Amino acid sequence: MDGQERPGAPVAKYRLEVSTLVQCSTCDEAAVVDQPYRGGHACRRHFLSSVDDRIRSEFHHQNPRFSRGTVGVALSGGKDSAVALRATQRYFGRRPGVRVVALTVDEGIEGYRSATITAAQRLTEQLGVEHRVVRAETELGTTTDRAAAELPDTVPCSFCGVWRRRLLNQVARDVGAEVLVLGFNLDDLAQTILMNLVRGDLDRIGRMAPHRGRQPGLVPRIAPLAQIPEREVFLYAQLTGLPFDHGECPHAGRAARNVFREVVWQLEEAQPGTRQALLRTREQLLERIAAGGTMGAPNRCRVCGEASTGELCRSCIYLASVRLPMAPTEAH
Ligand code: SF4
Ligand SMILES: [Zn+2]
Ligand SMILES: [Zn+2]
Repeated sequence: MDGQERPGAPVAKYRLEVSTLVQCSTCDEAAVVDQPYRGGHACRRHFLSSVDDRIRSEFHHQNPRFSRGTVGVALSGGKDSAVALRATQRYFGRRPGVRVVALTVDEGIEGYRSATITAAQRLTEQLGVEHRVVRAETELGTTTDRAAAELPDTVPCSFCGVWRRRLLNQVARDVGAEVLVLGFNLDDLAQTILMNLVRGDLDRIGRMAPHRGRQPGLVPRIAPLAQIPEREVFLYAQLTGLPFDHGECPHAGRAARNVFREVVWQLEEAQPGTRQALLRTREQLLERIAAGGTMGAPNRCRVCGEASTGELCRSCIYLASVRLPMAPTEAH
């Protein structure tokens, strides 16, 4: 499936209905989107340039010293990573000495992942970007579907997300990436911050992307779409004709994030600018914490050698609870 409009679902899902009678706040053209957090509306041209400006400013803000080497981009085949890849290619692609590589993880999810991988392949061909696909089946000896069947009492996103982060880090390191670009949008980040605040997990707020500086064992992660609301990423992907897949993971209904998605939406509607305020809260916390010490995972996992807060990383703890054809090898 591609970025062409499918009747019904997606536009309603991203709450994008804008009356064609509303005018752009900057020019005389008809608006294509409302931006309540900015107190205005934007036509196609001003919308696209406002997204480009915010992405460029985030690249600059999050990664000021990168001028040569390899940039990895996590590419799922959905709208966010499609926009992130195009933006990375535009920002870095013409710099001599910078190589952009798209990295896709196949977690093994029947009826979902193969369509997104096809969309990812179409996009990388269209942009002329190198593409690597890593499979959980090959690298970990299991898949999200199989583990979900074996662990019916565990929400699949918990191990799936942990494994995907691990595989992305590994493949980013394998291709020699100095930095890993993620497609997290403003809503994703606001939800994650709120989720960790509610859980009282300040450490995880510190460790989440976008990273400040280098965390032991991790390729630094940046999130250039941090200031772009999800609905605007969707609209931008459509207006720029990017191939992407609208499909939804069959396990997504059980994600703890769903509650926070709804809560953030309600807060944003009641008080436009809530999402940006949550991001600023994180920035301020990091500044205060940085003044008093360091953040990040201090250890290496005894089994796989990846970054870990304890003796074993969460990926290996999950792997120990599912059946594998062979035991994971000791760290070297
Ligand atoms: S929704 Fe959950 S199970 Fe599905 S791909 Fe995302 S993290 Fe994995
Ligand atoms: Zn305009
Ligand atoms: Zn481990």
